[in-house]
Amino acid sequence: MPPEEFRRHAHQVVDWMADYLAGVGDYPVMAQVRPGEVAARLPASAPDAGEPVDDILRDFRDVIIPGITHWNHPDFFAYFSITGSGPGILGEMLAAALNTNAMLWRTGPAPTELEARTLDWLRQMMGLPEGFHGTIQDTASMSTLIAIAAAREAAGLDVREQGMSGRELPKMRVYASEEVHSSIDKAGITLGLGRTGTRKIATDDRFRMDPAALEQAIVEDRAAGILPLCVVATTGTTSTSSIDPVAAIAVVCERHGVWLHVDAAYGGSAALVPELRGVLDGAERADSLVVNPHKWMFVPIDCSVLFTRRPEIVRRAFSLVPEYLVTPEGEGVTNLMDYGPALGKRFRSLKLWMTLRYFGAEGMASRIREHCRLATLLASWIDGENEWEMMAPVPLSLVVFRHAPRGMDDARTDAHNERLLAAVNAGGRAYLSHTRVRGRLALRLAIGNLRTTEEHVRDAWALLRQMAAEVRADA
Ligand code: PLP
Repeated sequence: MPPEEFRRHAHQVVDWMADYLAGVGDYPVMAQVRPGEVAARLPASAPDAGEPVDDILRDFRDVIIPGITHWNHPDFFAYFSITGSGPGILGEMLAAALNTNAMLWRTGPAPTELEARTLDWLRQMMGLPEGFHGTIQDTASMSTLIAIAAAREAAGLDVREQGMSGRELPKMRVYASEEVHSSIDKAGITLGLGRTGTRKIATDDRFRMDPAALEQAIVEDRAAGILPLCVVATTGTTSTSSIDPVAAIAVVCERHGVWLHVDAAYGGSAALVPELRGVLDGAERADSLVVNPHKWMFVPIDCSVLFTRRPEIVRRAFSLVPEYLVTPEGEGVTNLMDYGPALGKRFRSLKLWMTLRYFGAEGMASRIREHCRLATLLASWIDGENEWEMMAPVPLSLVVFRHAPRGMDDARTDAHNERLLAAVNAGGRAYLSHTRVRGRLALRLAIGNLRTTEEHVRDAWALLRQMAAEVRADA
């Protein structure tokens, strides 16, 4: 593409992006398409001859956009609500233009050094002590996989050289609460520990891991010849945002010599707010911790940060340097390829750096604080209504609740809430998701988008009440 053609279309695209972001709230939040509908509008094969950008952009608007669920929408309350902020999008655009691959220091000196410096800023902003070394990964799932691989390496079984099969090895275990994210189970599956390699620990009435039950499980397993590898504590679980007692869990881990990984993918961002920093109490004793700036730090997906106090173990697990990757800098520099299974390394620190600089520590804190205020406010409205029920405490910005009409048994209440959720989401005015809390279906309304105001939350609450009445009348 000649430079002038690029310039013309880039201006067009940026204008479209600015208009999109200004009007994103006017779209239906959840894509209003049926499965297969987008694919049916796309040719089965690539064109033989190149096509004009104007035609491609027309199809982007007409075919692709209707199939987009708008995560940047102020009424997106599903899963964990996120934002691709302006400075983050600019960083992503520049990274695409540079197309740098910082696998080695010399293939990306600035990306390598910016990553280290920006993650040290983030470490300080989160109140983590010196000594935590950060790398950027694509997702929390990958960060946790790397952490558990490092824990296995630290256990001294020489798995790196000898593998997991064809020899006598003890069964290895990872411990996590029954509320833990499925990415921990997936990491265990990928690392050859199997699903039974993750043992779930009971939680208390606030859905927090019970450290005494954890210790008992470790002792029991040891007695049965099982090797405890790693404990995953979560600050901000996916279903209810509960916060495990990391300090007490750290004591158990230290007593039994087990690697402690903290999954702060969502909740870790709250530590940017000085008065919420307690969410990471005890995390300073962890061996590793994951936090996702693409969840609640307004950085466009993807950007996950793995901090570890034992980077040399991560390197021991993953560093492998064939001749064609040897460089004259040798051990004198950081080569980012050494800190995970991937060789190629996208320039993700640019968007994080630009976002942190644009908002500043106070700007980040004030926005996260506001999201927590809105969640607490919604919880107070729900608490004030007889036929609505809070299903979990609200330590951060996630509200978990259900409509519980008088006289309906639990099974009918579950079905009623399923219908309510489907009706709300189908309308396109708001998008919520669901979970099960102690077996009961619950609605999740997560606040984390920069465009979400009190009015949006108020409207979503009004919509929920209206739809609840309609769904009930239809039943
Ligand atoms: N951990 C927690 C607590 C989460 O809530 C999630 C996703 O929502 C993950 C891990 C996985 O995140 P990712 O999509 O970055 O792999």
